[in-house]
Amino acid sequence: FQPIVDAQTQQIQSIEALARWRLDGVWIAPYEFIPIAEEAGLIGELGQQMLKHACATLQRLHGLGWPISCSVNVSIRQFSDGDLGAEVLSLLRLHQLTPDVLHIEVTESLIAQREVELSRTLHRLSELGLRLHLDDFGTGYSSLSRLQQLPLHTLKIDRSFVTPLSEGNTVMVHTIVEMARSLGLQVIAEGVETLGQYELLCQLNVDFMQGYLFAKPMPEAELLVWLEQRPLAQASC
Ligand code: C2E
Ligand code: CA
Ligand code: CA
Repeated sequence: FQPIVDAQTQQIQSIEALARWRLDGVWIAPYEFIPIAEEAGLIGELGQQMLKHACATLQRLHGLGWPISCSVNVSIRQFSDGDLGAEVLSLLRLHQLTPDVLHIEVTESLIAQREVELSRTLHRLSELGLRLHLDDFGTGYSSLSRLQQLPLHTLKIDRSFVTPLSEGNTVMVHTIVEMARSLGLQVIAEGVETLGQYELLCQLNVDFMQGYLFAKPMPEAELLVWLEQRPLAQASC
């Protein structure tokens, strides 16, 4: 789980569930096993496990007094296999969670591939009260009409726009934030690694940030320690 913090206060707002596979004592990164799971037809099951794990973790965190939300990445198979809405609803009930604490991340490129069928499921999830994040924004192809028609809540600005940020190179992030504002969407910047990037993103009015500057992804037990030990914000917008 990797924390997502409020840009203004640096307080945790949410976490993103990121899959890891431990094989013979070695952690394998998702870019290695996700394509294999997709090819082997196992990605639907992996996605279900991630949803279950996210809901169980949220229930424990809420019980400990951390009322945060959690984003889960979903892949195309989860939209075509079974009923994602019903699955999510039963998990929320089982773990006594309100739908607004579960955020679903879909990538731009995924939506571009199967717009019509995904649109139906995304509307259903949104009607249930879940929040939808458009992931890796800026790297794929998003028509403006799609951005307007899909029931999106948040744009996640891809790390490739955050890494090169400098005083003289803010135009892309500025443009994305302005567009998101006009569409009534919130903005999360991904891959924030330096204080310089943090300060520029604050000036650019990004709502939330995620990146190694705040924390790397970690298992639940470490997240709990991070939450307990985290000093109050050292810098603010
Ligand atoms: P993503 O959804 O864009 O996740 C963000 C990735 O950026 C994560 O890589 C995270 O560890 C990394 N990251 C976060 N902050 C920083 C930073 O400050 N600097 C750098 N250099 N990297 C940062 P990770 O965990 O390796 O995941 C890679 C991708 O694998 C994810 O990209 C997502 O597309 C996919 N993935 C991960 N978990 C799942 C899953 O459960 N289901 C599906 N379908 N895809 C998943
Ligand atoms: Ca993501
Ligand atoms: Ca991303």
